[in-house]
Amino acid sequence: MSKREFQTEVSQLLQLIIHSLYSHPEIFLRELISNSSDALDKLRHLTLVDDAYKSLPFDPRISLELDEENKTLTISDTGIGMSEEDLVSHLGTIARSGTKNFLSQLSGDARKDSNLIGQFGVGFYSAFMVADKVEVVSRKAGEEQAWRWISDGKTGFDIEPAERAVAGTTILLHFNEEGAQYANSWRLQEIVKKYSNHIAFPIFLTYDKSEWNEAEKKSIKTRTTEQVNVASALWRRPKSELTDEDYKELYKSITGDWEDPLFWFHTRAEGSLEYTTLFYIPAKAPMDLYHAEYKVGVKLYVKRVFIMDDAKELLPQYLRFVRGIIDSEDLPLNVSREILQQNRVLTSIRTASVKKILSELKSIATNQPELYLKFISEYNRPLKEGLYGDYANRETLLDLVRFKSTKVEGLTSLADVKSRMKPEQKSIYYITGGAESLLRTSPLLEIYKKKDLEVLILDDDFDEIVFSGIEKYGEIDLKAVSKSSTSEDLKDVNEPDQAEALKPLLDKLKATLGDRVKDVRASVRLADSPSCIVSDEEEPSIKMQQMMRAMGQKDIPALKPTLEINPDHEIVKKLLARSDDSVAEDAAWLLFDQALLMEGVPLQDPASFVHRLNRILNLSI
Ligand code: ADP
Ligand code: MG
Repeated sequence: MSKREFQTEVSQLLQLIIHSLYSHPEIFLRELISNSSDALDKLRHLTLVDDAYKSLPFDPRISLELDEENKTLTISDTGIGMSEEDLVSHLGTIARSGTKNFLSQLSGDARKDSNLIGQFGVGFYSAFMVADKVEVVSRKAGEEQAWRWISDGKTGFDIEPAERAVAGTTILLHFNEEGAQYANSWRLQEIVKKYSNHIAFPIFLTYDKSEWNEAEKKSIKTRTTEQVNVASALWRRPKSELTDEDYKELYKSITGDWEDPLFWFHTRAEGSLEYTTLFYIPAKAPMDLYHAEYKVGVKLYVKRVFIMDDAKELLPQYLRFVRGIIDSEDLPLNVSREILQQNRVLTSIRTASVKKILSELKSIATNQPELYLKFISEYNRPLKEGLYGDYANRETLLDLVRFKSTKVEGLTSLADVKSRMKPEQKSIYYITGGAESLLRTSPLLEIYKKKDLEVLILDDDFDEIVFSGIEKYGEIDLKAVSKSSTSEDLKDVNEPDQAEALKPLLDKLKATLGDRVKDVRASVRLADSPSCIVSDEEEPSIKMQQMMRAMGQKDIPALKPTLEINPDHEIVKKLLARSDDSVAEDAAWLLFDQALLMEGVPLQDPASFVHRLNRILNLSI
């Protein structure tokens, strides 16, 4: 017998699992059964596609054997099994780097944490919540030798040669005090039905059944084996036969989520391609939504045979929050990831699935607005990613995303913005480049307030990247208020001849600010503020340039802003009347610096700003 130690992370993880999840230890059974089901899927797949395995027997079953007296339970399967090496690496280390995130994400809230266990796949170790000793006997398909792995879940594990009649894995749990409640056949049946009813393989329970014996006038215990689950691929049944409860149960069993999904879309396509899709939208966005290594939520089946659950090709990345199943009749069983990438069948299924999901979302937005708001509060951001990446569905996505606005509380749609447009209004306006509070008080909005024009507040950090590439909503132009060209909607505010009168001042400002500005000109967008800065139509805004630099892009040319001044403002009028002197020079810089500050751009030289401010203060006090 050889003694091995757990990888440090495993010991850590075991401690956390055992101590933080006590309120729902029953999930140990879901985890172990799903491992058995995975192992059966893997073996079935191999016997279908790999010549070396074709002759192996495949008699899929998962068996639970309960010994109430000794408080033990075995969970065995006729799946792929594990070699000695597999036992060491799969049950002694944490291979997937994503799993390490698990450790940092545990919240102490048992409900959430047990949900995480399923998401991050540290399921096997949950056995130690209910057992103080776990023995695994496994024989890998195609091999003769079996191995026994034993551990108390504390320091490490032992491994020794063992015997097993056929390939597969048997897990023997010696229940601890906490686990003793599961040494009960009723309880076990209830848990299997709750979590594992739709596992594609039959699950049998062997236990001592008490039955009344009329002849002896007492109940007698007989060793009995019964199938516990329904073992059907529920998604292949017609919608009319399925209840909401069926759908919710399936959702919970494939995702490990505790909460009901928000809604689901079940589609059966017949014709040139035959496939079934069942997509669910989780009530809460998955924890790893914004991780590079997010876990794929859609499982691929071919003719009811599980193929893979980690294919990022199944749906576009922005729909990575969707959970569910794609089951195709037309894909080959031995489809590999490489083939998937340019497979015509999958491309068609994917295109149709995206269209389906988006159009269903649109109809929910129209018919069940409250439900849709719940959806949007979790998934607005990924939809915006779609605006950036999914050109073909941009029109639909524009109707699905929601916006903050100067005109409404909460969120609004572009369709609603359109319906509120003034009869003569030409464009829809938005402001980007900072936190909501900064945007709402920006001088750039003054003229829109004055003219009672609605402006969308786009305060997500990537809104500028997304929306600078979108020029129109239907026939209507979408315009950023920070861009130098102004729309027809703003013209005629200030009389044109003012520009002539202002020219000497503009020239003076330009001479003073030198190469810090591209141009200085009279503004038509200001009402209360004396100045603001704007960028050219094709150029990224100052804020955006900062972001690009912060993200490590070094070769960003230093683009200069244009300073606009408000001809109607008292300060500007006084400045116009004033001859060249140091006050005028200080004022020029202060007009520029305050415009930068209002945009949330840090000053290059705060000391000079403060000196100037103090000189002016000194004069006025
Ligand atoms: P996950 O199932 O997410 O990979 P688990 O902790 O549940 O994580 O299982 C770890 C690994 O141990 C599995 O990926 C699998 O390789 C192996 N394993 C666990 N149970 C079995 C089993 N019954 N048969 C074969 N392999 C198994
Ligand atoms: Mg597992």
